[in-house]
Amino acid sequence: AAKARGKGMYCFFEPHMERHLVMQLTRLTELKLGIGRGELVLHYQPRVRGDTGEITSMEALVRWNHPERGMIPPVEFIPMAEKTGLIVPLGEEVIRMVCMQLARWKEEGLPVVPISVNVAAQQIDAGTVSAILASALTGNGLDAGLIEVEITESATIAEDGQAVTELQAIQKTGVKLYVDDFGTGYSCLAQLKRLDMDGLKIDRAFTSQMLNSPADAALFEAIVSMAHALDMRVVAEGVETAEQLAALQTLSCDEVQGYYISRPVPAAQAKGLLEKRYLFPEADLVA
Ligand code: C2E
Ligand code: MG
Ligand code: MG
Ligand code: MG
Repeated sequence: AAKARGKGMYCFFEPHMERHLVMQLTRLTELKLGIGRGELVLHYQPRVRGDTGEITSMEALVRWNHPERGMIPPVEFIPMAEKTGLIVPLGEEVIRMVCMQLARWKEEGLPVVPISVNVAAQQIDAGTVSAILASALTGNGLDAGLIEVEITESATIAEDGQAVTELQAIQKTGVKLYVDDFGTGYSCLAQLKRLDMDGLKIDRAFTSQMLNSPADAALFEAIVSMAHALDMRVVAEGVETAEQLAALQTLSCDEVQGYYISRPVPAAQAKGLLEKRYLFPEADLVA
């Protein structure tokens, strides 16, 4: 029987799959070691007020600075980290790095704004984020108002007790919660309000479609007014042109973010942006 089973298994486990698995395992081990060696790097992308262009926060976006392969974008390792659970220690390291950066900027006398951290659903499920945030904040002498957490819609739709309890624990620390990539999942605004979310980041797909599709523009406008009625802030992601920005300004979108305003930049450049504080050229200011 054992032999038969072995034979059967062989059918499902072909040599190319084995190579693939081995490669995945190698990558995973490499990433695990890389985190320990300090190979994670954070870039920062500002979020600004829609009317004045004043920086309201900086989003931390992780990269893996691999010794041979160079700067690796998150799409190439975050999904693997999420599938394997490595996202939990990785996310912990990101929170630590963010707090250290905030402490450094404060020390340098910069006009500090909150840093916004991306947190995966798996981290919420693990239930450790609130405790890590609390200890990293206290350890660096930072106010909880200096960190914001972004979670994708999918992390909020599972209304099971465990995840909700952790979200509430995060809010109890004083850290603000934003729903990331809003419009890509299935959550409704009422549910987000029940979870007491502070704001929504509307997905780049909506921002880019708004000018081409009247239906998307109408939807965007409806989301903004409903969010405001529910006392949530609205941030538009992926603003790439002056025309898009102008359209968002007409809709009274609270904040905007995107390549048009600034790409994500390394910490040294982010410092320059913080010093500038207002990022719109004259022509983009709302009169
Ligand atoms: P996200 O949180 O939705 O971040 C926005 C992504 O869109 C970033 O890509 C950003 O560089 C990019 N982006 C910003 N403005 C524009 C624009 O105007 N046009 C276009 N085409 N793209 C724009 P990035 O840095 O590659 O990050 C991708 C995703 O990886 C993030 O999406 C987030 O879900 C995830 N991620 C990044 N850092 C972390 C982290 O520390 N922890 C976790 N769990 N996930 C992270
Ligand atoms: Mg984000
Ligand atoms: Mg997003
Ligand atoms: Mg995203």
